[in-house]
Amino acid sequence: MTDRPLDAAGLRRRTAELLAAHPPAETSRLDFLRARFDAGLAWVHYPEGLGGLGAPRSLQAVVDAELEAAGAPDNDPRRIGIGLGMAAPTILRFGTDEQKRRYLKPLWTGEEVWCQLFSEPGAGSDLAALGTRAVRDGDDWVVNGQKVWTSSAHLARWAILIARTDPDVPKHQGITYFICDMTDPGVEVRPLRQITGEAEFNEVFLTDVRIPDARRLGEVGDGWRVAQTTLMNERVSIGGMRLPREGGMIGPVARTWRERPELRTHDLHQRLLKLWVEAEVARFTGERLRQQLAAGQPGPEGSTAKLTFARLNQEISGLEVELRGAEGLLYDDWTMRRPELVDFTGRDAGYRYLRAKGNSIEGGTSEVLLNIVAERVLGLPPEPRTDKDVAWKDLAR
Ligand SMILES: Cc1cc2nc3c(=O)[nH]c(=O)nc-3n(C[C@H](O)[C@H](O)[C@H](O)COP(=O)(O)OP(=O)(O)OC[C@H]3O[C@@H](n4cnc5c(N)ncnc54)[C@H](O)[C@@H]3O)c2cc1C
Repeated sequence: MTDRPLDAAGLRRRTAELLAAHPPAETSRLDFLRARFDAGLAWVHYPEGLGGLGAPRSLQAVVDAELEAAGAPDNDPRRIGIGLGMAAPTILRFGTDEQKRRYLKPLWTGEEVWCQLFSEPGAGSDLAALGTRAVRDGDDWVVNGQKVWTSSAHLARWAILIARTDPDVPKHQGITYFICDMTDPGVEVRPLRQITGEAEFNEVFLTDVRIPDARRLGEVGDGWRVAQTTLMNERVSIGGMRLPREGGMIGPVARTWRERPELRTHDLHQRLLKLWVEAEVARFTGERLRQQLAAGQPGPEGSTAKLTFARLNQEISGLEVELRGAEGLLYDDWTMRRPELVDFTGRDAGYRYLRAKGNSIEGGTSEVLLNIVAERVLGLPPEPRTDKDVAWKDLAR
């Protein structure tokens, strides 16, 4: 390509060409999204041929603004957050060319939803202790085990999966990373009711599931390193979302404050102001974090963004319930409903208050993230880890 559109002007030109060739009013949503991917305007920092143009990540905002102004459809990122935020960067970094070509386009357009088969009943914070086994059999791996808290498993076509392939070495070394077809025989998804009443997540039972070796991501035994890419991106995608002013949890409470003067008290005013400022600081810090990210690996800064996100969401949603008084306790009954998307800030105040409780657990608990910040950002002494050199099979369980 002679005219590499690596600057803002080039990207605007290319976006205009896409809009002229595929006018949103006359093009189906899916056709438009596929054409956008093929034009390299899906995620501009990805390589050419894989939905990008190798442009700086910060220029994505230029493309998004032009498309929004033209009324173009988006890929509904809240519905496909695990694919976009976790599976895609991992496939980009560790996938073969064939895997990248097969998975990234339908992932980005939302034609294929992804879920994350990491946590197990005995392995959450201590994820490396996981016990789901994958045993090689010819060209396949045969997988047996149980995963839990799997968001969107009931909607997913594919899962990123980590499983133990060698129990005779220390726990971090015997793990391999796979792509699992959720429609394969032996994959059973059961709903789990959460504090909001709904069943946004699931437990997943894997019984003699055959995964072709061609769906292994990275080397055999290197799954822990591959999973680090997923986990670091997970924190950024949960805690570092791009938001407009008052776009997060602070939006509804600020609106209620403006529209309902009868609810105001001096004490709540002081708390609202403090949280409003903190939410703005978090928003700008998230913006700076995104600008620092190259196409590959975010650093431990993602952990601080996720920590702040969880704390603020819980404090702000608590303030909103307090502000609304008895009315704040009203709650739409979502018992065992299966939401199509994970919505941290949606619906009513009662929902927000309850859903925010999970923010300090999902994607790594706040306690564990504090450990990461202490060790990797502040350089404080590490926690004692006595099981690092013991074979996984000899660990107490
Ligand atoms: C809404 C939601 C969605 C989720 N979605 C998914 C998903 O899609 N896929 C998936 O794989 N998982 C998912 N999870 C699981 C999540 O990643 C785990 O719940 C989390 O990692 C914690 O693991 P655990 O629940 O086993 O708790 P445990 O690890 O048992 O922790 C229990 C308590 O001990 C504390 N603790 C543990 N270790 C330490 C330590 N070293 N230092 C200090 N404190 C410690 C923890 O902070 C916590 O308070 C989801 C969870 C939630 C709440």
